Amino acid sequence: MIMTKIIKRGIRCSCGRKVVFFRKYEGSYLCRSCFLESIEKKFKRTVRKYKMIKSGDKIAVALSGGKDSSAVLYLMNKIIKPRKDIELIAIIIDEGSGKARKDSIKLGKRLCKKIGVEYHLFTFKDELGMGMKKKAREIEKEDSKIKEHCTFCGVGRRYILNKKARELGATKLCMGHNLDDEAQAVLLNYIRGDLYRAARMGPVTDWSMRKEKGKRFVPRIKPLREIPERETAIFSILMGFDLCWDKCPYAGGIRFDAKDFVNDLEYKYPGIKFTILETFDKLLPHIRDFSDKREGSIVFCGECGEPGSNKVCKTCELWR
Ligand SMILES: [Zn+2]
Ligand SMILES: [Zn+2]
Repeated sequence: MIMTKIIKRGIRCSCGRKVVFFRKYEGSYLCRSCFLESIEKKFKRTVRKYKMIKSGDKIAVALSGGKDSSAVLYLMNKIIKPRKDIELIAIIIDEGSGKARKDSIKLGKRLCKKIGVEYHLFTFKDELGMGMKKKAREIEKEDSKIKEHCTFCGVGRRYILNKKARELGATKLCMGHNLDDEAQAVLLNYIRGDLYRAARMGPVTDWSMRKEKGKRFVPRIKPLREIPERETAIFSILMGFDLCWDKCPYAGGIRFDAKDFVNDLEYKYPGIKFTILETFDKLLPHIRDFSDKREGSIVFCGECGEPGSNKVCKTCELWR
């Protein structure tokens, strides 16, 4: 509807070209090339602002083959390729959650080949003993406290990503989280009162600086955290990335209600997603201090040796 209005009124991008996108929170009308340029600029600004990469780094991008991780891989490659002092690889995880996931992985691999980035594929089956499909059947049968499949999937994925990134010698793990993901997570952590998890959010999570044992956590960076989901989607479409848009068959639960809530707010108050994140960033140093004191230190899991906050890590608790 907005686009027909734009065409009717003959509104043009400030450069004179045809408008493809209206950025409501800025009130700006953008053509294809100005839109793509604005995303690239925002990405570079975020990387610089939080000093996300430095000489000698080996960056591992967590690639799902979806719009966000494809965009972040493409943009990272664009700034890293001309440099000889930084390496870039991709880590792909097959959760074993069905055909849509398989298709998405295929597209992820294809993107890596196209832009010349080395990738490494790991499966839930090899690393955790079974894929999500089988696990889902188990969860449904068992009288488990946790019924949300996303919890099992997310815990497993984070575990493998960190372990494999470390084993591959990566100095940073680059995630494709966008502004919407972050605003939702802020809200969820608030609702759950999960300060420990909230402390691990933010543009850069580097436990090695805070705790000796934190060295087994590969620092994580999120260069898309200030770009709304709609815009990472449009960026990927305009760039012509082959993408699989099928939703995860297990998607559901409170996270998705939080997503709807944040979207409703944004519709009424354009720009509020940024406000949610900015407010959180102001609180983050205090949350981290508080969580350091309260939660004690990082411990290594007695079962698998990976770092976590309990004697038995979440992955071993849920998967083994
Ligand atoms: Zn333009
Ligand atoms: Zn463990």
